Amino acid sequence: MGTILILNKFMKDLEFPLFKTKIENSPKFDLTDVKQRKEYFELKAGEEIKKLKEYLKENTFIVYLLGKKNSGKGTYAKMFKEVVDKDRVEHFSIGDMIREVDKELKGGEKKKELINFLEKNYRGFVPLEKIIKSLENRSTSKLLPSELILALAKREIAKRGRKAIFVDGFPREMDQVSYSLFFRDLIEYRKDPDIFVLIDVPEAVIDERIKNRVICPLCQTSRSLKLLPTTEVGYNQKEKEFHLICDNSECKGARMVVKEGDQLGIEPIRERLKTDESLIKRAFSLYGIPKVLLRNSVPKNKAKEFVDDYEITPEYSYEWDEKNGKVKIIEKPWQILDDNKVPCYSLMPPPVVVSLIKQIVEALNLT
Ligand SMILES: [Zn+2]
Repeated sequence: MGTILILNKFMKDLEFPLFKTKIENSPKFDLTDVKQRKEYFELKAGEEIKKLKEYLKENTFIVYLLGKKNSGKGTYAKMFKEVVDKDRVEHFSIGDMIREVDKELKGGEKKKELINFLEKNYRGFVPLEKIIKSLENRSTSKLLPSELILALAKREIAKRGRKAIFVDGFPREMDQVSYSLFFRDLIEYRKDPDIFVLIDVPEAVIDERIKNRVICPLCQTSRSLKLLPTTEVGYNQKEKEFHLICDNSECKGARMVVKEGDQLGIEPIRERLKTDESLIKRAFSLYGIPKVLLRNSVPKNKAKEFVDDYEITPEYSYEWDEKNGKVKIIEKPWQILDDNKVPCYSLMPPPVVVSLIKQIVEALNLT
């Protein structure tokens, strides 16, 4: 009884430390601009990036990304790749892999190859025929056995050649945490260091990201009226409503729209978020494997000390300027309450990636 209480208390207090990215007298950068972002990384993590580039010439590593759904795992991994080494780093998403497999199963040569591969490489408790069947008529809620995911991941990683990989989407269930401890052996990366990267994002951030998301009906690009507008904002005078115009010139001014169900925010994914939280806690308590802790938010009263103003995510609101017939855009720091109801700011992806880069350098002992 006593042990359980202590454990519960520990889990409740699972604290992600604040990471200082503030530099005295830093010039102001527009972090949405590719060129300025490059200069920003050079200033804030130039030395560490150099060390990683050098390391990656001969070596690799494996990172397991663990964060709640929509916490930005893919964004961080892709930005790390962009900044550190496009050719030697790979973002490997299990979700994307399964979608690819779904396509292969549509038939033809590829389907034959896939089944052939699985007949040779799959070992598990569910017969292969049954798995193929369930893959073919799968509803998204139905889980695939871990043994199958691992066999497919091995095939996919072998295709890409030897690179540092950020695994996104594994472990996805509690039983997979133990598998991940042996993952590098399974994919024949035996000697390469592996690292758990745990991401802490307030649920309010995830909720608002979903609720404000809009997509282009033509090219499916996703943006946010509140958090990530396009260059042109439109206004419908009759409905008194603002909307984004897709930036893609091929879409010829298409009006971006809310996706069905997004207005519900995190409600439909609550169960998923709970599982994700347990996974993070489980990984947090692992021994013998380095852990990198990333936080998306910084308490309002600590912001001045830890981050530069331009590292905070802005929120946008709009007013209709009747006289000039123009939309007026108002920008201010986006404030949310974190899971403990503390007023916080949410960070832009680059400062989180600075923290990722520096902590990975440390985990790899490149000092
Ligand atoms: Zn478009």
